[in-house]
Amino acid sequence: MTLTTHAVVGGLLGAVASHNLALAGLMGFASHFIFDTIPHWDYHLSSSHEDDKDWLNNDIDASGKAFIIDLAKIGFDFVLGLVIVYAAFHSYSPMVLLGAIVGALFAIVPDPLQFAYMKWRHEPLVSLQKFHIFMHAKLKLKDRPLIGIASQAIIVIVMLLVATFIIPFN
Ligand SMILES: [Zn+2]
Repeated sequence: MTLTTHAVVGGLLGAVASHNLALAGLMGFASHFIFDTIPHWDYHLSSSHEDDKDWLNNDIDASGKAFIIDLAKIGFDFVLGLVIVYAAFHSYSPMVLLGAIVGALFAIVPDPLQFAYMKWRHEPLVSLQKFHIFMHAKLKLKDRPLIGIASQAIIVIVMLLVATFIIPFN
């Protein structure tokens, strides 16, 4: 799932739990794995090498030109997620905004941790990666970008609508 989608989901949960930032972070982190269970589309990363038989062998080649382009895509995805979260929550109290940002960042963090695992295959990253793979939908909508993008846009819109209904202004 794109970082933008994860960020918005984590942002909503973090805003709801903003009275307790540790809880906001925890809920954001947990939401990553729960939302990864939904079959989804991910944009192509040319530097990524996937072993369809065993995802534990997946790797990213961080030495080539492709990686720079991939980093730009990932960076755009990351910034877009944070901009949406900021735009959605900045008119609430500073506490709610902070909770939303903490939730969003912790919802994103499992993906950089996958990269960390690929470059340093040791515990506790191995167990975390096994868990990430276990939770991740086995059906990937790789060749269905239209459904894939639309379904994530719907998740983002629903989360933002829910936020306007359940989080009080004060
Ligand atoms: Zn993930």
